[in-house]
Amino acid sequence: MKIAFVGLGNMGSGMCLNLIKAGFDVTAYDLNADSMAAIASRGGTTANSLEECATGAHTVVTMLPAGRHVLDVYFGENGIAKTLNKSALLIDCSTIAVEDARHASSLAAERGLAMVDAPVSGGVAAANAGSLTFMVGGAEGAYDRARPILEAMGKNIVFAGASGNGQVAKIANNMLLGVSMIATSEAFNLAERLGLDAQTFFDIASKASGQNWSMTSYCPAPGPVPTAPSNHDYKPGFAVDMMLKDLNLASEAAASCDAPITFGNLAQNVYQSLSSDGFGDLDFSGVMRRIEKEI
Ligand code: NAD
Repeated sequence: MKIAFVGLGNMGSGMCLNLIKAGFDVTAYDLNADSMAAIASRGGTTANSLEECATGAHTVVTMLPAGRHVLDVYFGENGIAKTLNKSALLIDCSTIAVEDARHASSLAAERGLAMVDAPVSGGVAAANAGSLTFMVGGAEGAYDRARPILEAMGKNIVFAGASGNGQVAKIANNMLLGVSMIATSEAFNLAERLGLDAQTFFDIASKASGQNWSMTSYCPAPGPVPTAPSNHDYKPGFAVDMMLKDLNLASEAAASCDAPITFGNLAQNVYQSLSSDGFGDLDFSGVMRRIEKEI
């Protein structure tokens, strides 16, 4: 049974290779010829066009930049939804607006196709290692069909309920992460300015009520967590521009349902200013350097 994989970028290439490694019959496609050559050089099958990629596929996996690319690939003028056979399953792993995910799913349903939104948590390293977390929205039957395919690319597969709920989980989680990273950076900077070194503050706060993932797994102050980007010149990891994308999606979604996100909006402004000042490629924990007034 053939899987069509569309979008062989930073994330998609590793995910596609993991499907191939797991023994699935995968045909891959990307607009970028170099990305396709990289997959072909590792034994993957590539197609000359989107249509060729999708022909005869029982499942399509997409890993694309944004909602407009997803809607275009499936339902645009040359979209593949019209050529797929009716039993096909669509799995979109891109991070896109909740509204776009729900719109795509209803367009798929109109054509009799099953679709899930399955955005991921975890960056390029997790995509390569096959250890992503997938948050899946859609009908339960579609989720059951998607699960064995997602298991070849991830470690945790979580069903989130109705269409779009995978995207809801993703943006709400990342908004919390963006806010907590700034708050954690402020706390470390405050402690250091008042004469308490980062390691001692970490030893105390990581066992006290301020403990959180941004501190214990990804500490923005250099020193306490050796694997954190703070010890590697804030090389991503998860770049400022990726965090900004998710905060923009959270802000749009919050406006659509009148949910107050005071801190989410503040975080959006902080990451927007870093990006506008040319630091979009820095790891998002590099916000520490702005709080230290170094950038
Ligand atoms: P990327 O820009 O590296 O890759 C996207 C790929 O899609 C590119 O290779 C591009 O050529 C291809 N593409 C675009 N339009 C296409 C079309 N019409 N047909 C075929 N191919 C097309 O992006 P990425 O970093 O791999 O991220 C992909 C998605 O995953 C995004 O939605 C992103 O928000 C999400 N995400 C990324 C990360 C990360 O750390 N990079 C982490 C979690 C989620």
